[in-house]
Amino acid sequence: MEQLTNFLHKIQSRSQNFIGYPSATDYNYKELYPFLDYCLNNVGDPYVESNDMHAKAFEREVVEFFSELFNAPPDNHWGYVTNGGSEGNLYGLYLARELYPNGMVYYAESTHYSVQKNIHLLNMESIVIRSQPNGEMDYNDLEATLQMNRHRPVIILANIGTTMTEAKDAVSTIKACLNKYAIKSSYIHSDAALAGVYLSLLDYNDFDFAHGADSIAISGHKFLGSPITCGVVLVKKSYKDRIGKSIPYIGTLDTTITGSRSGINALILWYAIKKLGKEGLLKRAKDCIENANYLRDQLNKLNIKAWSNPHSFTVVFPKPSSEICKKWQLATDAEIAHVICMPGITKEKLDEFIIDIQQYL
Ligand SMILES: *Cc1c(COP(=O)(O)O)cnc(C)c1O
Repeated sequence: MEQLTNFLHKIQSRSQNFIGYPSATDYNYKELYPFLDYCLNNVGDPYVESNDMHAKAFEREVVEFFSELFNAPPDNHWGYVTNGGSEGNLYGLYLARELYPNGMVYYAESTHYSVQKNIHLLNMESIVIRSQPNGEMDYNDLEATLQMNRHRPVIILANIGTTMTEAKDAVSTIKACLNKYAIKSSYIHSDAALAGVYLSLLDYNDFDFAHGADSIAISGHKFLGSPITCGVVLVKKSYKDRIGKSIPYIGTLDTTITGSRSGINALILWYAIKKLGKEGLLKRAKDCIENANYLRDQLNKLNIKAWSNPHSFTVVFPKPSSEICKKWQLATDAEIAHVICMPGITKEKLDEFIIDIQQYL
C-alpha cells in the first residue's frame, strides 16, 4: 500500500538523523518475528500463571536479571515488564502511597514530566526541591525542606539520569539527610529510566537497593533497545504483597497497573539480555561514553561550550540554530540542547553532526 511505503521511506530517512532522544538502534529482533503471529498476553502478575498464551517465564527471567544487577534483596523482590519508565515511576509512587498514605513526595526541579503527572493521578502531596546547575538535586535545599516537614513520612523520587543533562542524584547522600533528622518512615524510588542499566554495569550504583532504594524503574527502549516501548519496574516484594487482589476471571493476581500486558515486550527484553549478556551490554556502555566524550571534546575545540555529567551518554551545549535542531531532532530546554550518544550512533554520525553545526556557527 502506497501510504505505508511512503511512511516507511520517511521513517527510514528520519532515523538517520535521530540523535536527540535516547533510543538505542543497534538491535535485530528478526528471530522473534514468528511470535508476532500470536497474541501473547502477560496479564496480571508475572509470578502467577494465567492461561497458556503468555510469555511469563521469559518475563520472570528478565525481572530476575535486573534484580540481581540492582542488588535487590534475594528473597524480597518482585517486578514486571511495564509499558515504559513512566509506568514504572507510577508503580513506585503507588506502592509508596499505599505504605505511607500521609507521605510527602520530594523531587528535584529537573525531574521527568511523568513524575508530576503520576503524583497528580495518585492525589499525593509533593514539594519540589531545587536542582544544582548540573541538574542534580540540591541536597542543602532537601535538608532545609525536610527539616520543616519532619513529622510526615518522606517519599523521595531520585533521578538517576535527568532528562536534559543526565544528572544523577546520590541516594546515599539522600539517606544521610534522612538519618540526620531521624526520619523513620521513608521510601526512595529511583527513576533510572535511561541510565540505570549501564551505571550498574559500570559499578556506579549509588541508586540501587543496596544503597537504599525501595523501588527502581527503567525503560526498555532506551539503553537496551526495543522497537516497542517498554520498561521494567522492580520493588520489594513485601510492599507489593499489600496491594494484589486475586481476580478469578483472569486466574491470576491483579498486581500490575494495566491488566493486559505485552508478552512480546518480555521476549524482546529477554532476547536483548541473552544475546548481549552482561559483557556485551558493558562494552556497548563504554563505547557510548567514549562517543559522548569525543563529541564533547570536538565541540569544545570549536569553542562550543559543551559539557557532560560523569559517566554520561548525554552531551549538553547551548541551543544551536533552529535548522540544526530540526534536522537532527534535538531536544531543547530554554537555552540548552543535547545529543544523547546511544548505542547505534557511530562516530561517523557524530562527525556529520559536527560538520553541520560548524556551518551554522
Ligand atoms: C524516558 C524517561 C522517563 C519515562 O520513560 P518512558 O519509557 O518514556 O515512559 C522517565 N524518567 C526519565 C529520567 C527518563 O529519561
